[in-house]
Amino acid sequence: MRQLLEFAAAPAILLILAVPAAADTAALERHVDRLAAEELEGRLTGTGGERAAAEYLAAELEQLGAKPLPGQSGYLIPFEFTAGTSDDGSTLALAWDSGGHEWTGVESIQALSFSDNGSVSGGVVFAGYGLVVPESQDFGYDSYATLDVEDKIVVVLRYFPEDLDQESRSKLARYSGLRYKALQARERGARALVVVSGPRSPNAGEIIPMAFDTAVAGSGIVAASISGAVAERLFEQVPDKTLEQAQAALDDGNPHVTGFEIAGVELTLDVKVERETRTGFNVAGILAGNDAQTADKPYVIVGAHYDHLGRGDSGNSLAKQEEAGGVHHGADDNASGAAAVLAAGVRLAGTEHRRHVVLAFWSGEELGLLGSSAFVNGAKSEPTLDPGRVAGYLNMDMVGRMRDNRLTVQAIGSSSAWPILIERSNVPVGFDLQTIDDPYLPTDSTAFNSAGVPTLNLFTGSHEDYHRPSDTADKINYEDLDRVARFSALIARRLADLEEAPDFVKVAPRTDQGGGRDTLRAFTGTIPDYTTEVEGLRLSGVIEGGPAAEGGLLEGDVITEFAGQKIANIYDYTYALDVVKVGEPVKVVFLRGDERHEIEIVPRARD
Ligand SMILES: [Zn+2]
Ligand SMILES: [Zn+2]
Repeated sequence: MRQLLEFAAAPAILLILAVPAAADTAALERHVDRLAAEELEGRLTGTGGERAAAEYLAAELEQLGAKPLPGQSGYLIPFEFTAGTSDDGSTLALAWDSGGHEWTGVESIQALSFSDNGSVSGGVVFAGYGLVVPESQDFGYDSYATLDVEDKIVVVLRYFPEDLDQESRSKLARYSGLRYKALQARERGARALVVVSGPRSPNAGEIIPMAFDTAVAGSGIVAASISGAVAERLFEQVPDKTLEQAQAALDDGNPHVTGFEIAGVELTLDVKVERETRTGFNVAGILAGNDAQTADKPYVIVGAHYDHLGRGDSGNSLAKQEEAGGVHHGADDNASGAAAVLAAGVRLAGTEHRRHVVLAFWSGEELGLLGSSAFVNGAKSEPTLDPGRVAGYLNMDMVGRMRDNRLTVQAIGSSSAWPILIERSNVPVGFDLQTIDDPYLPTDSTAFNSAGVPTLNLFTGSHEDYHRPSDTADKINYEDLDRVARFSALIARRLADLEEAPDFVKVAPRTDQGGGRDTLRAFTGTIPDYTTEVEGLRLSGVIEGGPAAEGGLLEGDVITEFAGQKIANIYDYTYALDVVKVGEPVKVVFLRGDERHEIEIVPRARD
């Protein structure tokens, strides 16, 4: 490691002050004002507001002297995505010797959004919660351990056993996502997965909403949700127990309670999912390198997403009731990052740099990193740029609300070249940096990391306007945004001038990918501060009227214990949140200054 550090740092030593320092907050203000304007309607991917923002960015690229990417006729690079799913008339029929019944209508039977289309029939196996915890987790829970589901229709309960202790809940919650359950059924040869929200669970008996799901294709199995009434009718064919009794037997988490075949019943499931395809636009331009020998080496990319939540209908909005449906301006998220890329581009265009530098603006980030993934992996076409041609990717997402000179630099574990390069680039700007190794971030750098490209992400921290209409341009700290833009130009410049591209270090993922949004069902209203290094979790705010605010938590409080679990960092907190129950009081221990406090908060359902 040390050797690699020296090798990476050597050519860059004399360039520290080579990027001009002149502040240009007027241009930054103009960019953010334009992108966050009411007329752009929150820049939802696939809408006119997104298109107008893309055209603004393209005009700016042209203005600063960037050219379209090789093989592209313009700055706008289209990609297709699934804008939503709906049920197009799925049906379910049960048949047994003496009779049967058929259901239509989404109040009884509805496709899961990731389902394949198709009609299947077969015998029925009730597989409990349909949970499988990988052996590596040393926990020993497999709903399928004693069941043969090959060519059967598997019926499972949503979520995970209800009466468990916190630690077991945290283990099982990770594997209770619906997609993960469908995958487990598919791997065991089942013909379909049918899910019911059990009578002892939250949302008992309710059909599962067709979550916003952007997968272009199905998951390789037919999957649907049924109402409690349909499930009860099925359980009438079970001689010795009701659905509620079957669930109760499972709910203490005893791994030896098994599912069973429901003999003598044939289930026919016909699932029809309609997927609406739309087009979104990435925007990118290239600043040619100034050295003929190095300019055809792998490029440097500096990028940021420019899309946002529109009016907040897609499920990621945190708008309060009275704000719901309003334009989500997305000034910090992420007009700030897009403006900083343009400002960095102006600086880079005015200085020599030996590799090509690509300036990129992604769309579809808020819908699941769609634009950057299409760029790296190709959607229905070839990738725009071969990842092997990218030396490093610098991302900015939410860089406009700096407080106390604190800047978080994430993903530095992705190359051994980063620590020294970052430290040296910071000399002229002087931020209080917090560096974080983890490259698996909920932002576009992750698409590059997956393709083996060293990445960095800059972030000035979350705040109470996050994903709300109130994230407006007047709240941006432009002086410091200008310093962030300057810092990003310094990093890009150093990266462009490295003789050899930085090495890529694969960081082990910190969690398994089994869980999903389906497990995020409790809302506490806390806003974690990602930029402060303290033992525990510092809050940068609380959402007004939320459970944390009602419980008495304030900005600056440091949570040290939550729901019986010690909280040393943000990851501990995320795990702890996974297992709290809606409506059940949770004990929170926190420090306010040096004083220790203990309160209770009551999590609410996330809608
Ligand atoms: Zn963002
Ligand atoms: Zn966002």
